[in-house]
Amino acid sequence: VSYDILIRNADFAVTMNQQREILSSASVAIHDGKIVAIGKNASIQGDAKKTIDAKRKMVLPGLINSHIHLTQQLARGLADNVLQPAWIHERIYPYEAHLTESDAITSAKLACLELIKTGTTTFAEPGGYHMDAVADVVDKSGLRAVLARSAMDLSTADRQLPGNLRETASEAARQSEEFVQRQHNRADGRIRASFCLRIVRVCSDELCIRIKELANRYGVLIQTHAGSTKPSVDKTRELFGVTDVLRLERLGVLDSNVLAIHMNWLSDEEAALVKERDVKIAHCPTTSPMAGGYGTFVVGRFPELIENGVTVSVGADAAPCSNFLDVVRVMYQTIYFRDIRSNPFMMRPETVLELGTLHGARALLWEDEIGSLEPGKRADLILVDLNTPEMTPLHNPISNFIHAGSGALVDTSIVNGIVLMESRRVLTLDEDEILAEANQAGLAVARRAGLTELAQPQWPIS
Ligand SMILES: [Zn+2]
Repeated sequence: VSYDILIRNADFAVTMNQQREILSSASVAIHDGKIVAIGKNASIQGDAKKTIDAKRKMVLPGLINSHIHLTQQLARGLADNVLQPAWIHERIYPYEAHLTESDAITSAKLACLELIKTGTTTFAEPGGYHMDAVADVVDKSGLRAVLARSAMDLSTADRQLPGNLRETASEAARQSEEFVQRQHNRADGRIRASFCLRIVRVCSDELCIRIKELANRYGVLIQTHAGSTKPSVDKTRELFGVTDVLRLERLGVLDSNVLAIHMNWLSDEEAALVKERDVKIAHCPTTSPMAGGYGTFVVGRFPELIENGVTVSVGADAAPCSNFLDVVRVMYQTIYFRDIRSNPFMMRPETVLELGTLHGARALLWEDEIGSLEPGKRADLILVDLNTPEMTPLHNPISNFIHAGSGALVDTSIVNGIVLMESRRVLTLDEDEILAEANQAGLAVARRAGLTELAQPQWPIS
């Protein structure tokens, strides 16, 4: 037999299969973009066009980051230490208003670079700006993704939408549908399109219903930000008489193809509905400490939702709120529920790893192809370096990786059978060029938006 890629001598392969087998001294054979065999070294024979020696390394399924804003990557550091309303109105909207198409492309490249270098192989993006150009960047990066064009049609007194974002329900639905027609299943099926209701509160009943009909027709996901903060939930109740989840239920939108982002503030009734309708959740535990006031750890029910069988994936959110895209650090953050609940037995490292793999795959309606290392699945995997201080001594490699590790331990990344990074060198994107370009573009957009002064250290630079 001859394979495209043969990974040999891995100290461990964490399969995430039904039995959650961890294989020692393992090999993985890849052909035509798929995993064709995985097992003990002796059980896999044959040669390959490319052989990767994985001694002192651990193979994991590629990590799945279910909430990322690619075009906000250049806004890193522009919105630290502010409350949510100021975060969006005084920092993000000015930034976005000054973002050119070329900036958006640079931003997306920088984000994809960070994602690859920290072990994400698949992500979901709810739709920023210039999304067709962004999709081209994602295609080139080799990453797997669900991309959307975001839709909204309401403006409220406290929340004026910037001019270029104001659309009618039918215009927003039409543009969203055309995006799906253009982008769904491109790049050998590596890029899928979805719909997005940007925030439930800024979408009319008509828009929500139309988008749901379209998502069903195309068999794709609907991403939406919901139940994020207390002020947002209060405002929603004031405007519509009910909160986000109940409103979506009333409109017939709440369903298994909805990926609801944040979902911090849920009533008992809403938590039960989420389970009943098989709604998917993108939990973003690193957003809250940065954009203070989300209440993720204070009121969030994520450990209990997981216990109840709800699909809870993890997302890094955006560079101006979480400030990093490293999904290993995002997964780590979920362990703080042990402190909140005074319960060291919850959010075990094995459970946490499920959020970034199997749950991520389910959240993106992609579990038939990704999320675990099994014959027949797409070849999306990472090699983690075990020859590091963080991974020493080694009893439980998953514990070390989640508790002590970070995305910086990821040595090699493969998506759809294509090597995106080897020995930490990214092969699909020009790292030096992107860093230089992004630093320049980031400083320039901050200057144009008048945000430079606000981003300086508290201490003088001489
Ligand atoms: Zn978001």
